[in-house]
Amino acid sequence: MVIQIFNSLTRQKEQFVPLEEGKVKMYVCGPTVYNFIHIGNARPVIVYDTVRRYFQYKGYDVKYVSNFTDVDDKIIKAANELGEEVFELTERFIHAYFEDITALGCKQADVHPRVTNHMDDIIEFIKVLVEKGFAYESQGDVYYRTRKFDGYGKLSHQSIDDLKVGARIEAGEKKEDPLDFALWKAAKPGEIKWESPWGEGRPGWHIECSVMAREHLGDTIDIHAGGQDLTFPHHENEIAQSEAYTGKTFAKYWMHNGYINIDNEKMSKSLGNFVLVNDIRKQIDPQVLRFFMLSVHYRHPINFAQDLVESARAGLERLRTAYSNVEYRLNAATNLSDNGDTYLEKIEEIKKFFEEAMDDDFNTANAISALFELAKLANTYLNESNTEERVLNALLQTFNQLGEVLGIQFKVEAELLDEEIEALIEERNQARKNRDFARSDEIRDQLLSMNIILEDTRQGTRWKRGL
Ligand SMILES: [Zn+2]
Repeated sequence: MVIQIFNSLTRQKEQFVPLEEGKVKMYVCGPTVYNFIHIGNARPVIVYDTVRRYFQYKGYDVKYVSNFTDVDDKIIKAANELGEEVFELTERFIHAYFEDITALGCKQADVHPRVTNHMDDIIEFIKVLVEKGFAYESQGDVYYRTRKFDGYGKLSHQSIDDLKVGARIEAGEKKEDPLDFALWKAAKPGEIKWESPWGEGRPGWHIECSVMAREHLGDTIDIHAGGQDLTFPHHENEIAQSEAYTGKTFAKYWMHNGYINIDNEKMSKSLGNFVLVNDIRKQIDPQVLRFFMLSVHYRHPINFAQDLVESARAGLERLRTAYSNVEYRLNAATNLSDNGDTYLEKIEEIKKFFEEAMDDDFNTANAISALFELAKLANTYLNESNTEERVLNALLQTFNQLGEVLGIQFKVEAELLDEEIEALIEERNQARKNRDFARSDEIRDQLLSMNIILEDTRQGTRWKRGL
C-alpha cells in the first residue's frame, strides 16, 4: 500500500511519491531554545518522530533534519534577564530539549543544525536574494520584497491583497511595503551580532529554515512539517525565500499538526496553564503522555485533560497486561498444534489494519485500535488455554513491531517490592550526594516507568504508586 499524506499546500490527501526512490527527505521546524519545551511543543516532535518511524518501518531511508533557533529576540531578552551569555542559555536548553524528547521516546534528528553555525550560509543566501531583486537593503536591515514573488500566499491559501489588509509597518522598520519581512536585522547597541555586507546584525527568523533545509537536504525536499501555527507567515515566507533562490519547488508535501488545549482552554502564558514537559514527565509516565498524544489524529486539536490522560494510561495498561500474559504463557509453550493457523491469519489481518490506518495520513488513532484488537485476540487465545509457541511468539513480535512504529514499549519490568523501591531511592540519594545527577535521574525515570512517583521534600524522598 502507498502512503497518503494530507498536503496543506493542495488541501487534499495525496499519494506519497518520493523524489528519490526509497528515500525521504524531511525537515521539521524545531524550537527556539530559551526555555523548557511545553507539551504544545512536544506534539510535533512526537507526531513527526512517529511519521519518520513509519517510513522506516516501510523500508524507507529517512533523512530527518530539525533546527534549533539559537539566536532571536526572545533568546536575547531571556539571556539579559538572567544575566547569562546567549550561548550558555541556548546550550542549557538544547540539553534540556534532548532530555525531554528522549524521555518521550523520540529519536534525535539526523541533523540538528543551529543558526549560529550557519551564519555564512545565511548571509550568502540573502546576498543572492538581493542580487535577484527579491530583497533590498534599507539602513542596515534587509527585507524580502514579497510582491515580487508570484506564489506568495499559496500555502496559507490567501491572496496578497487579503494579506495586505492585516499588514502594517512597525515602528523602526524601514520597508517598501507592509508585507515585506526582515531577512537581516541591524544590531541594536549591546546585542549579539555578526558582520555582514549590510553592517553588523543578525538574521530574521524565517531565513534560517530555508538555508538549513537546503544545506542539509538540497533544493527540493519531500516533506516539510511543523505546527499549524507556523503555516503563516513562517512557512509561507520559507517558500518565498527558497523558491526565489532556487527557482524550484521547495517542498512537495507540507504537513501541519493541530493545537493542544489544556482543559479545553488555549494554552497561554497569561492564563498560567503552561504545562512543561520537564515537569509533567516527572508526574506521568512519559510513555503514557506519548500514547495519549497519538490517540488523536495529528491534524485534530487535542485536549490535555486529566481524565483523558487517565484513560490513555488505562488503555496502555490493558495492552501491557495482554503482552505480559502472553510472555508468561511462553513459559508453558509447546509445539503442539492447536488452532494456531487461524490465529496467525488473524494476527496478519490486524497488522494489515494497522498499516492501512498509518497509510491513511498517519492515522495513529486507528492504528491504536488495531493494537487493542491484537490485545483482544491475545486474551482470547490465552483464555482458550492455547500454548502454541509460534503463535505466542507471533503475538509478542507483532506487539513489538507495531509498538516500535508508535514509539511505545509494551514490555514492562516485573513489579517492584517496597524494599526494592526503597533500595533504589537510597541509591538515588547517594547519587545526588555525589552530584551524579545522570544516575539519579535515571533511577527516578526507571521508577516512574513502573508508575512509582517520587517526591523530594525537606524531610527526604517520599514515594507513592501512581493511579
Ligand atoms: Zn522553520
